[in-house]
Amino acid sequence: MNDQEVIRLAKSLVEAGIQLNALYEPIGCMFCLRPSDLAPFLKDRDLFFANECALDKADYVAWKRFIADGRPCMHTGARGGCKRSAKDSRGISPQEYARRRNEGTLLCSRHLSAHTR
Ligand SMILES: [Zn+2]
Repeated sequence: MNDQEVIRLAKSLVEAGIQLNALYEPIGCMFCLRPSDLAPFLKDRDLFFANECALDKADYVAWKRFIADGRPCMHTGARGGCKRSAKDSRGISPQEYARRRNEGTLLCSRHLSAHTR
């Protein structure tokens, strides 16, 4: 199927009352897939959601890894990385992740207080 055929198929599904609404990734909000979204979604899912979040694909993929790795504190000391979770990062959105990573505050409570002192 080419892109046009995918869109036509999606439209006919929607017209037949078949919902495409679903949460496909934990992007922090309910997500509704439009028929015109299907082709880019199928082609590159990470890029598609990165665009939805207004982020670069690299940032979106980094956020997924951060969540999958247990939201690790970004502090790295002489003996390697910190093993604790970053403070207040439970349920963090991709945008919030990118913002806090850039300002260097994805830290556990111990390293965060050292950072802000
Ligand atoms: Zn730490």
